Amino acid sequence: MAEEELREENRRVKEQLDTLLRQARSNEEKMRRLQAQELRLLEMDDLLGLLQALLDDYRAEFNLDSVSLVIIDPEYEFQRLLDAVGGFSHPGLKLLHDAHALYEYYGQHPAIEMGKFISECHQPWFPPQQETLKCIAMLPLERRSQLMGSLNLASSEESRFSQEHGSDLLDRLASIVSISLENILNQERLKRIGLTDALTGLNNRRFFNQRLDEEIMRALRHDTPLSALFIDADYFKSVNDQYGHAVGDLALIELSKKLRGYVRFQDVLARFGGEEFAILLNGSELPAAVRVAERIREEIADMMIPLDSGHLLTLTVSIGVSEVHRVASQPGDVPQIGEALLQHADEALYAAKHQGRNRVMMMDVNGEIRAVIPDTGIKPASEQPKA
Ligand code: GH3
Ligand code: MG
Ligand code: MG
Repeated sequence: MAEEELREENRRVKEQLDTLLRQARSNEEKMRRLQAQELRLLEMDDLLGLLQALLDDYRAEFNLDSVSLVIIDPEYEFQRLLDAVGGFSHPGLKLLHDAHALYEYYGQHPAIEMGKFISECHQPWFPPQQETLKCIAMLPLERRSQLMGSLNLASSEESRFSQEHGSDLLDRLASIVSISLENILNQERLKRIGLTDALTGLNNRRFFNQRLDEEIMRALRHDTPLSALFIDADYFKSVNDQYGHAVGDLALIELSKKLRGYVRFQDVLARFGGEEFAILLNGSELPAAVRVAERIREEIADMMIPLDSGHLLTLTVSIGVSEVHRVASQPGDVPQIGEALLQHADEALYAAKHQGRNRVMMMDVNGEIRAVIPDTGIKPASEQPKA
């Protein structure tokens, strides 16, 4: 009988051991997943990747019902970085241009909050949704004691997060997310510096070339038109010769400002080189692009730039226009299509120069260069007496 009891006791101990072992393995697995996730966040080197990892992958991996990221963005910098990478919209991402409400939520000393989901209090920080949220963890994101946003986790399980569970892991997650966000913002800032023209603040040629391929792929995928404008200031050398380099710079800045007014959100405008600008018009066929070009030409010819000397400087531009030929194009053709698009616009521009400047020429779909407007003659950069 004693032997029987001993066997029974052994069996129970073995069972307990097995349970403990299973738990240890499961915890180890959880830690491994957590660490892998943390490492992934730290290694992220692009903004969209990081946002996706936080808002979608993290939610799925840890079986949460809602994850949202709130970023304080008073100067619209974050928004601009997102726009620059083609835009990103996600119900879980909220950019706060006025951070008042978040400061108020966390108070003087932001700390992780865990507990019951209270609709009036927490719903504003989460996207609207069907599932009923029961439990939240609100993680303030801080760098150098500055609140930069909040990562908010929610579950429909009542006791998913609670103060008793301790907040060590979430504390670590908040720090890692803050560091990753700051890293990526800095990287994006650096990239932007490398993609922006210092004089005019426009995108530079590198940026333009990057976007060119993206826009062509988009046009092919959605079968939408895409046109290019090459704009070159006429006789610009004579502006420098006559008035000096500083006035030349000023004229380029004024030209840039003017050009900005013609591009819509989905278009791409860049200073392509010295006194040369390029525009990609998304969704515009040749006739529409030519109309834009003609308006640009006309308005620039009417523009008067006041100089310190009291004089008014006038300028003209020549413009070449081309359109992507989409017939039977393959995605693999993208670089060649881009090259052809620019070369056609350049050839049209060359013809416009050749025919007397201050005019728009286009390369039509048959590869023929055509004038767009009747000959208007040349208007070299000139000084006009103040009215
Ligand atoms: P065309 O009508 O044939 O285009 O004549 P152009 O004089 O404009 O063309 P050219 O290519 O001979 O000269 C371009 C001039 O643009 C020469 C260069 O000094 C001037 N330029 C280019 N970049 C800058 C700049 O950043 N600032 C200033 N001030 N001038 C610039
Ligand atoms: Mg020129
Ligand atoms: Mg030029």
